[in-house]
Amino acid sequence: MATVRDFVRKELVPHEDLVERLDEVPKELAAQIRGRAIAAGLYAPNFPAELGGGGLDGPSLTLVERELGWTSYALQWLIARPSNILRACAGDQVQAYLLPVIRGERVDCLAMTEPNAGSDVRSMTTRATRDGGDWVLNGAKHFISYADVADFVIVFAVTDTEQTAAEPTTGGKRSAISAFLVDHGTPGFTVSRGPSSVSHRGYHHCELSFAGCRVPGSALLGEQGRGFDLLSEWLGASRLTVAATSVGRARRVLDLAADWAARRQQFGQPVGRFQGTGFKLADMATELEAAELLTLRAAWKLSHGAMTDSDAAMAKLFASEMLGRLTDQAVQIFGGTGLMSEFPVERFWRDARVERIWDGTSEIQRHIISRAMLRERGA
Ligand SMILES: Cc1cc2nc3c(=O)[nH]c(=O)nc-3n(C[C@H](O)[C@H](O)[C@H](O)COP(=O)(O)OP(=O)(O)OC[C@H]3O[C@@H](n4cnc5c(N)ncnc54)[C@H](O)[C@@H]3O)c2cc1C
Repeated sequence: MATVRDFVRKELVPHEDLVERLDEVPKELAAQIRGRAIAAGLYAPNFPAELGGGGLDGPSLTLVERELGWTSYALQWLIARPSNILRACAGDQVQAYLLPVIRGERVDCLAMTEPNAGSDVRSMTTRATRDGGDWVLNGAKHFISYADVADFVIVFAVTDTEQTAAEPTTGGKRSAISAFLVDHGTPGFTVSRGPSSVSHRGYHHCELSFAGCRVPGSALLGEQGRGFDLLSEWLGASRLTVAATSVGRARRVLDLAADWAARRQQFGQPVGRFQGTGFKLADMATELEAAELLTLRAAWKLSHGAMTDSDAAMAKLFASEMLGRLTDQAVQIFGGTGLMSEFPVERFWRDARVERIWDGTSEIQRHIISRAMLRERGA
């Protein structure tokens, strides 16, 4: 843990202001950081050691994610945690995609969201059609993070229709979704930068278009029609990442706020001595500890094959909402200074907002948690 902590503070934090100003990580700097992260053995900590990854268990990975959360997303993401979905790679895909992402030679991104299919992922309309031995993709994705940097995209598309036991709105039918590996530069596949967002400058989201994009049969990742299962499996681990990095960010902001409350004098005393401010600090610290324990508990269950969708949803929901409340209170403790871009608090406050939206909104996490409770009761 000390290695990753040192790396973040020495190699990443000093570049935060530059990335914020430019809204990107300069290419040479990105290559340098990635190279140092690989040399330090920090790359792909979420993949098994036999494949060349860090081989960390759930709780250790959570602590690493927490340390990475200390700094800007655009910088910490240079220590990649490739998508777990790539574990489904088989045959030639292992040499072409899986091992290169773990070694840091290639970078992946993941595309499920579409302009008309956000929370309701299954309503996507991007379609992949069989043509001889190939697949032909048509459709569009948006809000796809890192697609401007990635060498390939894991893209989800409808390939079939399947019968379900109970789907009242669709008369028992629903789309069967498959996953594909599509290289940057494949004819018919284009990537463009999306509108800028208030959160995470330098870590861009993109719009993808597939217009008659032909890929070989070997581009299918996992089994045909089972892409949604892969996605659901990935989302659990990904939600723990959101929870753990939210905890890391909250730790940094709480440190800043507590230091400020101890130093800033008004009415002849540190502002932290006013009960209104001191109680805020106490609530922030308590909620932070609770979020970290909830996240570690889910991660421990993940390592023991016992994590449920609700465990991941509760960790993501609580940690991301805690971060929203904590950064807002931190701005309050800083007063006007908290809104000035010279201080990182303003950035953390903005960055926090997206955590309640991506990888499933807070409402979707609540839906997952309550659905499980009702199902247990036959409702
Ligand atoms: C910066 C950024 C980066 C992203 N990166 C990626 C990426 O790399 N890859 C990718 O595939 N996607 C990515 N996303 C997409 C992200 O996962 C979606 O934005 C998210 O799932 C919500 O979808 P939506 O924005 O379309 O909102 P909508 O689904 O339209 O939701 C709108 C509102 O309705 C509510 N709502 C919807 N359904 C329900 C329900 N059943 N019950 C209660 N409330 C509901 C939502 O909670 C929300 O408040 C990214 C998004 C952002 C903002």
